[in-house]
Amino acid sequence: MNNAIFRRLTALVLGGVLLCAPLAGCQTKPEPVQTTIFAMDTVMNLTIYGEQETLNQAVERIYLLQNALDPNQEDSITYDLNHAGGERVPVSTGASDLLGPSLELCAVTGGALDLTAYSAVQAWGFSTGEYRVPDQSELDELASRIDYTALELADSTVRLPEGMAVDFGAVAKGYAGDLLASQLTSAGVKHALLDLGQSSIHAIGAKPDGSPWRVGVQDPSGDRYLGVLELADRGMGTSGSYQRYFEADGVRYCHIIDPDTAAPAQSGLASVTVVSPSCLTCDGLSTALFVMGLEEGADFWRAHPELDFEAIFLTEDGSIAITAGLEDSFTLTEGYTDREVTVLS
Ligand code: ADP
Ligand code: MG
Repeated sequence: MNNAIFRRLTALVLGGVLLCAPLAGCQTKPEPVQTTIFAMDTVMNLTIYGEQETLNQAVERIYLLQNALDPNQEDSITYDLNHAGGERVPVSTGASDLLGPSLELCAVTGGALDLTAYSAVQAWGFSTGEYRVPDQSELDELASRIDYTALELADSTVRLPEGMAVDFGAVAKGYAGDLLASQLTSAGVKHALLDLGQSSIHAIGAKPDGSPWRVGVQDPSGDRYLGVLELADRGMGTSGSYQRYFEADGVRYCHIIDPDTAAPAQSGLASVTVVSPSCLTCDGLSTALFVMGLEEGADFWRAHPELDFEAIFLTEDGSIAITAGLEDSFTLTEGYTDREVTVLS
């Protein structure tokens, strides 16, 4: 080997060592970028292992989605539908991406999830905070206006009969989780935890060290975490009576409506957490299972393996039931380890 070639090889090797040093540093301890925002009526925490610009784009997407779905915002699809007087309203591809799968969830849950529950949500005051308890005749009339099958989605338009109202509150954050996950993954992000207000969480990949993300499951009767779920490439959605409610004459009325009665669901559950690769499924099903209650909810889980979900049911009397697929990923936290966990199979 002549000297010139030797010198060039040495330079290459040294250069390689110098180049490797910062790269090796990157691989052993990547730093996340993180932000906290208020959107969709809740505080969201987004943590991604990626570029700040990628995170900024994700935040922009959330605000766009919020504006597109907010029932109080003129020109949102929700506002347009609720004020169309029974006329057909054009829907963008994005909106039908949400509407189609959401209506499928309404159908598969036998209407326990019903996007047209909004008249009742309004009548009870959950949309304004001016709470009231409608009497039985008003409830009967409200129940007659809840029927997702009356929502006609066809040819890039949707029609809602006059007198009915929709909202996407039960599915919007889950949908946002799926949308952000695909946007972030396309941008090359392999590890992220999207906490869209505790009730919808999406774990993209595992943590950079390969261990799963650890997410708390709240004790419905307190501020503490009753258990921890390990998640990787999974969404998680929680619906609970402790999240938004009011009390009148000693009765607690929560923001989840039983479409059959047009009254707040009273199924004996305090909360339901759903885990699935699809965040939309988590969000939609957590609302539906809360309406169904433990027994019907467990039967629903057994009957629908194709929906690819697992669940944690916490009842008002303090019992805990989990579906078999969570046995290895759910653990009780300190202070709760004496509680019995029933594994559903
Ligand atoms: P959160 O929004 O707190 O995460 P959910 O996902 O369970 O809770 O959604 C509850 C919201 O969905 C309510 O605030 C209301 O707007 C709407 N809603 C209430 N009951 C139903 C129902 N049975 N089906 C569909 N939407 C509902
Ligand atoms: Mg929901």
